[in-house]
Amino acid sequence: DTNRIAELQAELAAQGVRYVFAQFTDIHGAAKGKLVPLVQLGDIAMPGAGFSGPSIWGTGLPRNGPRSEYYGRADLTTLQSMPWLPGYARVVLDGHVAGEQFDACPRQVLRKQVARLAARGWTLNAGLEPEFFLLQKSAGGYDAEAGDALEKPSYDTRSLLRQRTFLDKLTTSLNECGLGVYQIDHEDATGQFEVNYHYADALRAADNFMLFKMAAHHIAEEEGMLFSMMPKPFAERPGSGLHFHLSLADANGRQIFAHGAADGAELQGRDLGFSPLGYQFLAGLLHHAPALTALCAPTVNSYKRLMCGQSLSGTSWAPAFIGYGDNNRTVVARTVHQRIEWRLPDSSANPYLALAGVIAAGLDGIDRQLDPGDPVNHDVYEMNDAQRAGLGLQLLPQNLGAAAAALKADSVLTEALGANIVNEFTALKSAEWIEYSQHVSAWETGRYLNRF
Ligand code: GLU
Ligand code: MG
Repeated sequence: DTNRIAELQAELAAQGVRYVFAQFTDIHGAAKGKLVPLVQLGDIAMPGAGFSGPSIWGTGLPRNGPRSEYYGRADLTTLQSMPWLPGYARVVLDGHVAGEQFDACPRQVLRKQVARLAARGWTLNAGLEPEFFLLQKSAGGYDAEAGDALEKPSYDTRSLLRQRTFLDKLTTSLNECGLGVYQIDHEDATGQFEVNYHYADALRAADNFMLFKMAAHHIAEEEGMLFSMMPKPFAERPGSGLHFHLSLADANGRQIFAHGAADGAELQGRDLGFSPLGYQFLAGLLHHAPALTALCAPTVNSYKRLMCGQSLSGTSWAPAFIGYGDNNRTVVARTVHQRIEWRLPDSSANPYLALAGVIAAGLDGIDRQLDPGDPVNHDVYEMNDAQRAGLGLQLLPQNLGAAAAALKADSVLTEALGANIVNEFTALKSAEWIEYSQHVSAWETGRYLNRF
């Protein structure tokens, strides 16, 4: 309403805001949008900021006619200044086409799954844990700062502090936005870091992750660096994941995954402190893991991260097998403190689609009372094929083409997320895989040209 808009405008003007960045997220997870002078805030709430639909990846919208225009309507609860960009605020848009909620808008796709949970009085809380590289321009392209080249750089304090200007600007900005940064560390690879901030409900968690990305890209650029969440930029170093820490709360804030929170008999022999519903949600994730792989690891590069532990980069700590275990980092789901750490995603994922997939899979597990089997408490990286087969451990899809095919074949996820978005997504990703497969790389000519 107009009073509310006027109030918000006055508040932001008092903070020195002149522009609102009206932002949505395309199917590839990239932040897109328009700058709108603050006085126009009312317009982007209703009818919304207008965009040419077919110019946005993954909408499938026609080039002309009433359905060619994509309206992003501001969700005013997300309106917030961007402290790293004085004078600018951000608001997140929900896609509309021809006056209706647009079912191929990733945020609408997630809203729909959140509503399915809400109908049962539930909220999925998610903590997204971004890992990333901070790189400097070098003669050969981009590289981590030389001083950072340690044999085992995890938690290295000197390399961490060398980046304090970037990290401090980022942390201060995110905290002013209420993200609540609580830990920052140097990760396993040279030039790789992780910033952890407070969990939030699924929709807000996706919005916050996009804010994190926008802030980090901008601040790094200002510092003359490249911030990258490409899953595996260097073959010989560990990749970057985006683990999801998941828990489900009921209307009273009680933890549904925790034992004692729900009715029903405890499953036998799995003393992880999980409730039956917790195990079922987990079982849904594992059952739909092949299809979720497309949503959580959606680039050809993602699969260079998801290799069994002992790869070129030594221990990668990325999952390759579908299983779960208490504090087990070598499988796709690590259970910890009655939460599920879903280790499959990387930051090339669209956070709205990945979270929507997670909810749809978990709910299917609950509705069909699926059983996750026994926890895997071994180091799966160390096992041989026969040992893994003995435990029934399945490999994740090994490339983008196989993952896209698994999503296409998953009728439960397709129905839950909507055929429109799943078709758009799998078409784009299958094409990406085919394009990559047809490319003849320097590795191939190097190995074969002279040999045959
Ligand atoms: N970088 C690892 C990954 O790609 C995870 C390392 C960790 O457990 O923090 O998933
Ligand atoms: Mg980490």
